[in-house]
Amino acid sequence: MRAYVGVGSNLGDRWAHLALAARRLRAAPRVSLLRASRVYDAEPVGPPQPRYLNAVLELETGLTASGLHALLQLTERAARRKPGAPRWTARTLDLDLLLFGREVVRTPRLLVPHPYLVSRRFVLLPLSELAPGLVVPGTGKCVADLLVEAPPLDLFPAGRYPL
Ligand code: ADP
Ligand code: MG
Repeated sequence: MRAYVGVGSNLGDRWAHLALAARRLRAAPRVSLLRASRVYDAEPVGPPQPRYLNAVLELETGLTASGLHALLQLTERAARRKPGAPRWTARTLDLDLLLFGREVVRTPRLLVPHPYLVSRRFVLLPLSELAPGLVVPGTGKCVADLLVEAPPLDLFPAGRYPL
């Protein structure tokens, strides 16, 4: 299954956390890292906190959506993000399962497509580099159209993904 993962970091060595995420996902069984977007430096959404680096990774995987989600959580832990830390706050590494093929998942632990996806420029802009025409299940709209409609956000390209 083709999957898209949002990567974010706004604490410590943000570039190193992005690199760690790519390294871990590459090393994982039943996961191939296909492509990465550029990295963006983005204004935080939510309470005052440091700016983020955001990017999107494209994977091919034989895991299920929940299996991939478990791997993402393990990888966050490898970057020493505290499990149970409050949402919306600063974090060393945030890995969100944005899209998993055309699957729609609605469980207490996992929502796919990720709820951010339809409205957040820091996800839509890097995702649009990889898959502008991809129709987001439940919206009937493609990534490029959702990007046009998304509210403004201060973000700028900061460099290539550290693969
Ligand atoms: P944020 O919403 O800012 O990414 P967190 O990463 O702290 O906040 O949220 C983690 C919680 O979101 C976890 O409890 C996880 O189970 C849940 N969650 C629901 N859907 C997803 C998804 N598609 N990807 C990652 N986490 C998800
Ligand atoms: Mg998250």
